[in-house]
Amino acid sequence: MSEAGALGLFGGTFDPLHVGHLRLGLEAREALGLAEVCFIPAGSPPLRAAPRCSAAHRLAMVERGLSGLGGCSVDPAEATGAAAASYTVDTLERLRRRHGGEKPLVLLLGADAFARLESWHRWRDLFGLAHIAVATRPGHDLEKLGAGATALDREFAARRGIAAELAAAPAGRIVPFAITALEISATAIRERLARGLSVRYLVPDAVLDYIETHQLYRTPHGH
Ligand code: ATP
Repeated sequence: MSEAGALGLFGGTFDPLHVGHLRLGLEAREALGLAEVCFIPAGSPPLRAAPRCSAAHRLAMVERGLSGLGGCSVDPAEATGAAAASYTVDTLERLRRRHGGEKPLVLLLGADAFARLESWHRWRDLFGLAHIAVATRPGHDLEKLGAGATALDREFAARRGIAAELAAAPAGRIVPFAITALEISATAIRERLARGLSVRYLVPDAVLDYIETHQLYRTPHGH
């Protein structure tokens, strides 16, 4: 992990890792001035259906997809079961313990994930543990946030900041940032694979190789 500067934390199911994830990580690093972005494949996410692929396969795809890419790392603890965490708040508490109280941590989320934040376990505690940076995603309008009257709108309005503020405090800001619009989702990739269609250029070549070698996502259900 990195020494100086803010550390980006990018959790996901990565079922599979795709180019939208990679662009989010790279563009977050550039736009937010992060020292590094750490990808954290989830073990078994509590809020959604079980991932199609095992944690071991999903971790392997993230490792292969990031291989040779500077400024990015992988935290395997949850995918391997070394850390029991299944909620993001547990992940952040674990990483806060590891990095100490002063390190700026920046949780990276797509706009769709951020919009659902109020349903997350202990969601208000997230703000004390890390900043949150919200990336644009096609079909999910960030501009509506902060204008409404929900608890999340109010947090957004009160905490909204800019990238330059992230390194100045360990946690607490919410920073929206724009990334290249890529209408790519793991769901659509799984559906294409189940229909025997190509996903080349939607996923890194190393991930495509892995999917083919292990014959993943060949049917709509099961492996
Ligand atoms: P699925 O289709 O299985 O729900 P996904 O493509 O949304 O998967 P996840 O692993 O669930 O991928 O996403 C991890 C994070 O990446 C989330 O915060 C999500 O908002 C973000 N993300 C995924 N794809 C994109 C994209 N194309 N543009 C912006 N953000 C994205």
